[in-house]
Amino acid sequence: MKSYDLLLKGNEKWAKKKNEEDPGFFQRLVHLQTPQFLWIGCSDSRVPANQITDTDPGEIFVHRNVANLVINTDVNVLSVLDYAVNQLKVKHVIVCGHYGCGGIKAATTKTDFKPVLNMWLRNIKDVYRYHRKELDSITDTQMREDRLVELNVQEQVYNLAKTSIIQRAWQQENRPHLHGWVYGLKDGLVKPVFEMNAGTHIDALYEFDDL
Ligand SMILES: [Zn+2]
Repeated sequence: MKSYDLLLKGNEKWAKKKNEEDPGFFQRLVHLQTPQFLWIGCSDSRVPANQITDTDPGEIFVHRNVANLVINTDVNVLSVLDYAVNQLKVKHVIVCGHYGCGGIKAATTKTDFKPVLNMWLRNIKDVYRYHRKELDSITDTQMREDRLVELNVQEQVYNLAKTSIIQRAWQQENRPHLHGWVYGLKDGLVKPVFEMNAGTHIDALYEFDDL
């Protein structure tokens, strides 16, 4: 048996079990998805949104990339955000990072990871530069890295708030609320580290006045 056959076998087993537990489950989801949450998480295989929040298919709309970044030229993340906010009408957007993130760790080195990854990681290096004073004052390497994970999540929440997608939804419908969370690989627990309620004012330069 090939390694990927295990995935197909696992899928069969899961679908059967789900159907036995709740016979209407798949039929309900065929017709409607009404998730209240958009999750922007890391691609890391150890941080699957549904499992760590004990939720079912249909409950969370998910986007994942290396180090859970929200970049204002990334058509992918912005399309997901637009759809989640304007079509699915989610009430909450969660950016969830995790301690021990390989992307964060890589960004703190001076290694050349070649063009594409260098481009991506540059965004994390910028987060470090914005918060250099605080981060450089932390002498323990692990603690400094953990703090960068938290600050990165915070900056990505700001990046969400800077988009016209979020600002328009805040102005017109007073949603979604933005959350910055960090997941601990060691204990499986999520720690909320930053919140931004709908309507929060950010630096005036980022605020559109003709939405
Ligand atoms: Zn990661």
